[in-house]
Amino acid sequence: MRFQPTRGPVVDRLPVYLSRCAEGDGGCLLWPGVLDHGVPAVTLHGRRVSLRRLVLEAKLGRTLRPHCVAGVSCGVGACLEREHLRELTRAQLGRRAVTALRADHRMRIAAAKQAASTKLDWPRAREIRARTCAGESHQAVADAHGISRKMVWLIAAGRAWREVTPWSI
Ligand SMILES: [Zn+2]
Repeated sequence: MRFQPTRGPVVDRLPVYLSRCAEGDGGCLLWPGVLDHGVPAVTLHGRRVSLRRLVLEAKLGRTLRPHCVAGVSCGVGACLEREHLRELTRAQLGRRAVTALRADHRMRIAAAKQAASTKLDWPRAREIRARTCAGESHQAVADAHGISRKMVWLIAAGRAWREVTPWSI
């Protein structure tokens, strides 16, 4: 369903809608109501209206350009913070979604690599990292532990068996 233009009485109600929002992390302004296709929305006089578009048009002082949508830079679907809203073409919006999917894909590959290294445990992974840090060749460490040189490299580079510290989260 296409969102309708947001001229008329809907604009007058914008302060009312914004007053219902709650502050979220990172300065987000979170809409507590309905999300339609992941976008804060209201129905007024039988018209479905995107509140994001409404806020962004009020900020820009004009209607959005044709083929453009109101995206959020923070990635929070319910966010209506005007500083987080961006006028994006549908193509740009699509590229952002693809980038997010690729990041998710990379995370799953990293998890799979870790799962594949079942010969290892944390003490051994730490020892491998310590030995490579001390300058031992990856091949020598791999032979000593009966694992591939590739796995030694992954551990040394922090791509597998990565220590979770307050700085790496
Ligand atoms: Zn936000």
